[in-house]
Amino acid sequence: MCGIIGYLGTKSAKSYLLDGLKRMEYRGYDSSGIVIFDQQHVHLYKQEGKVQVLVDALDKMVLEGPMGIGHTRWATHGKPSDQNAHPHTDCKRQIFCVHNGVIENHLALRRDLEVQGHHFTSETDSEVIVHLIESFYQNTSLECAVRKMLPLLQGSYAIAVTSTHEPNKIVVARKESPLMIGMMEDGSHLVASDVCALLGHTKKLFFWKMKKWP
Ligand code: GLU
Repeated sequence: MCGIIGYLGTKSAKSYLLDGLKRMEYRGYDSSGIVIFDQQHVHLYKQEGKVQVLVDALDKMVLEGPMGIGHTRWATHGKPSDQNAHPHTDCKRQIFCVHNGVIENHLALRRDLEVQGHHFTSETDSEVIVHLIESFYQNTSLECAVRKMLPLLQGSYAIAVTSTHEPNKIVVARKESPLMIGMMEDGSHLVASDVCALLGHTKKLFFWKMKKWP
C-alpha cells in the first residue's frame, strides 16, 4: 500500500507534498515522486528509494508552485525503479497522475492504447490511466476526461490527476482505495490517501463514498 497526496492553494506546494509523503512512508515504499506546476514550468522529480532521497534531491531547489501531486510507491507491477515511480505522464507530458491500487485489466488496456499509438515509458499497471485520460481529453475538461475513463478500469484505485492545460485543478477519484480531502483555513486544499498526511494542517476533512459508475 502506498500513499498519494495533492496540494492546491496559496502557498508553495513543495513542503506540503514532501511532508505528507514522509508521514505516509509507514504504509510501505520503494520509490517516490512529485510534480509541481508553477507559472511557467512543470517540475517532475521521481526516484527509487526512501522519501528522504527525494527530499535531499529537492532540498536546495526553489520550487514555488502552488499546485502539485506526489506519491510513495509500493510496487505491484514493475520493479522498483526511477522509471516506474509515479507520477506517470501521457505522451505529450501534459497530464500527470499518481495512483494507489491495482489495475487488473492493465494488459488489455495497454495493448489497445499501444495500437492507437500511445508510447509507454514504465512497466506499471498505473500508466494506462494517464494514457486513457489523454485519449478522452479532447475538447473537454480534465474532470470529464477522467469520468469517461473510469468505467474502463477494473481493480482498485485512488488517483490524483493534473494537467498543464488546467493548472488550477486536481481531479481525484477512488474505488476501494482510501482518499480524503482537507480544506485549510486560507482556502487551500490537501488531498491524501491517509489522514496522517492531513492532520496538523486542517481539521476540516471530507471523506466520500464511491458512486457506482454506469
Ligand atoms: N500498482 C501501482 C504500481 O505498481 C501502484 C502501487 C501502489 O499502490 O503503490 O506502480
